[in-house]
Amino acid sequence: SILLDVEKIRKDFPILSLTVNGKPLVYLDNAATSQKPNSVIKAIEHYYTHQNSNIHRGVHFLSQRATEAYEVSRKKVAKFINAAHDHECLFTKGTTDGINLVAFSYGKQFVKPGDTIIISAMEHHSNIVPWQILCEDRGANLKVIPINEKGELLIEEYKKLLNEDNNVKLVSVCWISNSLGTVNPVKEIIALAHEKGIPVLLDAAQAVQHVAVDVQDLDVDFLAFSGHKLYGPTGSGILYGKEKWLNQMPPYQGGGDMIKHVTFAKTTYNELPFKFEAGTPNIEAGICISAGLDYLNELGIEAVAQYEHELLEYVTAKLQEIPGLRVIGTADQKASVVSFIVEGTHPSDIGVLLDKMGIAVRTGHHCTQPLMEFFGIPGTVRASLAFCNTKQEMDQLVDGVKRAVAMLV
Ligand code: PMP
Repeated sequence: SILLDVEKIRKDFPILSLTVNGKPLVYLDNAATSQKPNSVIKAIEHYYTHQNSNIHRGVHFLSQRATEAYEVSRKKVAKFINAAHDHECLFTKGTTDGINLVAFSYGKQFVKPGDTIIISAMEHHSNIVPWQILCEDRGANLKVIPINEKGELLIEEYKKLLNEDNNVKLVSVCWISNSLGTVNPVKEIIALAHEKGIPVLLDAAQAVQHVAVDVQDLDVDFLAFSGHKLYGPTGSGILYGKEKWLNQMPPYQGGGDMIKHVTFAKTTYNELPFKFEAGTPNIEAGICISAGLDYLNELGIEAVAQYEHELLEYVTAKLQEIPGLRVIGTADQKASVVSFIVEGTHPSDIGVLLDKMGIAVRTGHHCTQPLMEFFGIPGTVRASLAFCNTKQEMDQLVDGVKRAVAMLV
């Protein structure tokens, strides 16, 4: 790539020089979790050697230093997604935690018996199950936007669902599918819902590391993502929520930090964002999530997106030349994921053989069982790419799949 010096970038990721089963590691499981650059690893070490202390409650030096770092990180996150206010960015454990927060809290305030929540056929279990739990609890209905054989949302069907009843309370869909790589037309999805005054949550777990995010331009109401897929630490995540919604929503959990005043008779709650941040958080992860963002910002998300797209087109075309191989998810708009099955083979057998060659892919249903059912398959082999992958690694994958198939068929 003329925009990215990938060989130089790879040196920033110490884990990429490991060998696996005697072969150089080819890491193609970036959608499950990304690897971490040295700057993030150093930030974690720096936290424990220079900053470690509990936040928000201490008068002493270290507590103030940790609090400052935590709040600076929140500011960086807000800037990264262009939030209007820092306090609209809540620290969470990850995407799953963020979606559960909205399902519980927004659900408690706004969802009544007979109401409707809309999701889509390509959702991750973490954007299905919280809504099922809510709907069961409230006597509400869960409706699903169907998809076509290419793995694209049927927007006409979505419009019908929006207009079918006047009780739709929320639309919650993924921006980019973790199993298919489909990039959904989220701006249109949001605009259509807003025509009817319905808020939208975007599961951005697979989006923030691949496309530029501007929550104000999207006018999205809630957006959830995970730090560990964004070159940051595990246990870090962000739920963005528009102030107007968060102010109307009750706390998700009760405990320290989220209170203004407690008596046994009644407790009053803290202001945003603290109302939603009960208990000692993962301070290290909250601080270091922005080290991942800094790294990505330095490369530039546009350059990253373009390079990853080139890799995806290249590897998809090569894979499709393999007899009996079927790519699952052939949407016109895709990012960084190629999922496939090969006639006469089981995905996990291919995965095990690739591992022997040092190639890490994911196999199975990828936490999207209803989607696998739609395609009539038990699972796929999924290669998920990042900017630290190379064309040579794409060739190694294609060659590895050919060798695996030759052994299995
Ligand atoms: N949604 C999507 C689309 C995902 O890919 C994932 C992670 N596989 C999640 C949600 C859940 O993220 P986490 O496990 O970090 O909470």
